[in-house]
Amino acid sequence: MPAKYNAKYSLRLNTYFDGQGKVFPALSLIIMVIFAPLAVKNLIIGEYALGLLIAIFICAFLADSNALLKGRALPINENIIAILAISCVSLTLFTLGAGTIFWIFPVSIIISFSFPLITSIIFNSLLLLTATTYVFLNYDVADSLRFFFAFLLTACAVHLLLRQIDALHTLLKEESSKDALTGALNRRQLNLFLSDALANKIHYHNDSTLIMIDVDHFKQINDIYGHAKGDEVLINLVSDIRAQIRESDLLFRVGGEEFVVLLPNTQLKTAEKVAQKLRANIKTSALLDNRTITVSLGLCATGNGLTQTKWMSCADKALYAAKQRGRDRVCLYNLNQNRIEDVAA
Ligand code: GH3
Ligand code: MG
Ligand code: MG
Repeated sequence: MPAKYNAKYSLRLNTYFDGQGKVFPALSLIIMVIFAPLAVKNLIIGEYALGLLIAIFICAFLADSNALLKGRALPINENIIAILAISCVSLTLFTLGAGTIFWIFPVSIIISFSFPLITSIIFNSLLLLTATTYVFLNYDVADSLRFFFAFLLTACAVHLLLRQIDALHTLLKEESSKDALTGALNRRQLNLFLSDALANKIHYHNDSTLIMIDVDHFKQINDIYGHAKGDEVLINLVSDIRAQIRESDLLFRVGGEEFVVLLPNTQLKTAEKVAQKLRANIKTSALLDNRTITVSLGLCATGNGLTQTKWMSCADKALYAAKQRGRDRVCLYNLNQNRIEDVAA
């Protein structure tokens, strides 16, 4: 199942906040309040290189934060921002002395939270290397080792916590996007994917088709065999549909015994064949012992000026017609002629 993922939001910290860039404006404000006076102070006391480097770091960070907030690609690669931050800390240390060593810790923690594991290990090692070099050159071995292990402990503890947060975050995303009974995607996901498909039509003229599926006389199944058996039928139905569609097609549960299959980049003619294949297959598969289970299907492909609501409503109308015309059949909504047609078996 393709996950909704946007390469623009590859920053780890940002993925925890649904890729909306919400955390970076707050971080920018903190960075402005703390580092802008430091940049000015260093320029005043004649440490021009350090003052300038801090100012460049602030500007780069603000530019990227602004882009994240507006959903645009980052103007400055995030790795450059990290290298700027590490350079600021290292230059501060070598210019102003041991009193500035404490900056190492917050910078290391922010890097760990912001970058994927391997990248953050590389940046933390760089940070450790420069700071340890300074400490070994200026302090005795015992103090240097104390610093080295304090840093290592901080970095390891942060990594362990982050692994736990990552695992929980993945689980939460997974659970909040799927229907608990069948594992099909839920309605919230449907809205996201429908808007993607419509955008694809507008920008690239790629058609997608929506198939709405409703189990025929499902209430009877519950009444005769019990609710638990009904649940089992729904679970089997979902795995049956999944086995029939492509990896790139998407299956959603939108109601009790109602499902939607979204066929991205698929024209109506192909979708008609898929729908008929699904119908025929469900009818012959043994979803329930001693009883044939059928489904009715309604189709609608993307058209010009189509909205999400209209798309769903047209597919629903086609499904309703399939029910009215006898069930166990496929109907389509022809957007060009605004009429419902039968799809030949
Ligand atoms: P039609 O052919 O017109 O679609 O008839 P139907 O009986 O399938 O439709 P109706 O809307 O009358 O009944 C749907 C039934 O689906 C009623 C409800 O109890 C059952 N249902 C909804 N959600 C679940 C569920 O999660 N599990 C089970 N077992 N049944 C469910
Ligand atoms: Mg039904
Ligand atoms: Mg129904």
